[in-house]
Amino acid sequence: MQQMKAPQSLAENTYRIHSRPAPGLVLFDIDGTLLRRSGPHHRHALVEAIRTVTALETTTDHIPLHGMLDPDILTRMMRNAGASPALIRRAMPEILRQAQNIYVRNCPDLRRKTCPGVRALLARLTALGIPLGLVTGNLTRIGWKKLERAGLKPFFHFGAFGEMAKDRAGLVRIALREARAGNWIGRRAAVALVGDAPADILAAKANRVRAVSVSTGISTPEELAGYSPDVLIADLRRLRLEMLLPEAEAGGAYSERE
Ligand SMILES: [Mg+2]
Repeated sequence: MQQMKAPQSLAENTYRIHSRPAPGLVLFDIDGTLLRRSGPHHRHALVEAIRTVTALETTTDHIPLHGMLDPDILTRMMRNAGASPALIRRAMPEILRQAQNIYVRNCPDLRRKTCPGVRALLARLTALGIPLGLVTGNLTRIGWKKLERAGLKPFFHFGAFGEMAKDRAGLVRIALREARAGNWIGRRAAVALVGDAPADILAAKANRVRAVSVSTGISTPEELAGYSPDVLIADLRRLRLEMLLPEAEAGGAYSERE
């Protein structure tokens, strides 16, 4: 798989500078966590991008998309259609560009596709001065477009996206590095990753970040429980801040900033 260098800064929105670094950081997956039932447009963009660049007819059928990074999905699609590793490697940079162009042109209105409790939670964390980041397998412009069309973009300061690392653990690492480099969080800040897939739990654990699991995606609560997340809830309406960042809570962060 093609590995691309992360850009200098991942910051998309201008972060409102606080007088001191925040005591916590919350990272969110997108599909199945912030949004669901967002339509076939994403899958179609991947198929169309491969067709445009290589003339190969591919499909996402029989690929376990859940929790996968977009470049890995594209690789599997092409391999299933008989493409050689050399062709995949050569075509990938242009396919990534095309997939994003196509999605951005076709992304539907997603304002009614947010998962239960999302908007209220993001608003509450923002009011407390907790910076929010994305950790998603979506390609950069696809991820930001979804958030924009869902009306959630203003809540997020930065993100780590599918083409930036070879796996989700690498994406979490990039997000942490960015938050520390920007001095948005203190050295001992509590960090939580909220996601709907086993892959999110594994990525959190690999980085010693609190794994918060929601069953608003494809995985059942039983399946998620098998990966021992720190918190497992049906949806974000049930998430109390003490469950999300208990260390920040112990430091009085919530009461102080409210
Ligand atoms: Mg997901």
